[in-house]
Amino acid sequence: MVADDAIPSIVARDERTTPRDGADAIITAIIASARDTMARAKLEPRDIVAGACSSPGPLDHVTGVVYETPNLVGFRDIRLADRVAEGVGTKIFVDRDTCMAAIAEGLVGAARGAKDFVYVTVSTGLGGAIVSGGRMIRGATNTAGEIGHWPVAFQPDPTREADDDIPLCGCGSFGCPEAFAGGANMAHQAGVKTASDVYAAAERGDARAKGVVIRAERALANLAVGLVNVLNPSVIVIGGSVAEHQPAHVLVPMHRAVAERAFKTPAAAVRLVPAALGADVGMYGAVLEARERAAGRGDWFL
Ligand SMILES: [Zn+2]
Repeated sequence: MVADDAIPSIVARDERTTPRDGADAIITAIIASARDTMARAKLEPRDIVAGACSSPGPLDHVTGVVYETPNLVGFRDIRLADRVAEGVGTKIFVDRDTCMAAIAEGLVGAARGAKDFVYVTVSTGLGGAIVSGGRMIRGATNTAGEIGHWPVAFQPDPTREADDDIPLCGCGSFGCPEAFAGGANMAHQAGVKTASDVYAAAERGDARAKGVVIRAERALANLAVGLVNVLNPSVIVIGGSVAEHQPAHVLVPMHRAVAERAFKTPAAAVRLVPAALGADVGMYGAVLEARERAAGRGDWFL
């Protein structure tokens, strides 16, 4: 582990709504946001050792190329690291948003000290990252860990189409945890605006919303059992806005399913815990990752 593990301090911030009209507009907004923030903090590009930029995946953190993103319009085979670096004037490291969050929770958050842990975020979408034996699992082309798209359901009746009953996912597949338990998909299926509206309607007894909530819980339960049986983590850190606001519908069903249905030995070894770092987890992870990779130390963990 690195010596100075502390939660990074944030000296300036800027938040903007993600443009919905393609990759160029998004990259322009990222660069403008970074430059404005640097100006406010009175920093020149030469003062900055390295920057980091998180993105939904799948992406390659080594080349900085984003392959595709189900939830961002027009993001396909984009050289994100190079283009942001050109615009900002510093070295930029790109990684999946959930990998950066996992790095922060692993170094200074809820999974601190754990060598085998899974980070899960249940938010607008559903994602995560897997650390095994002290290393982030990256896979053959650096896209591993997309647990939001690890199918947990299928249409049992072969005469029916998948979307007759189980929802199609934004990734083009079906039966994904994100399709059931991602906030945007839940809201769409319940015919309301946000995930909070779904839970509020379910609370009021709305049958359609209740159905959506129950399916989300079951998808999360299956995901949790799969993670425990397959990966044998010592900690599963569960973050994201939906998880934070609805622990009874996220953490609790996941915990219950592991206790009831996972293998006893890995079930006894795992703790399911809420994320510790809140909404800024991605920024903390970005700083920590940029620091490690700029120093040439990325390989030990990232
Ligand atoms: Zn999917």
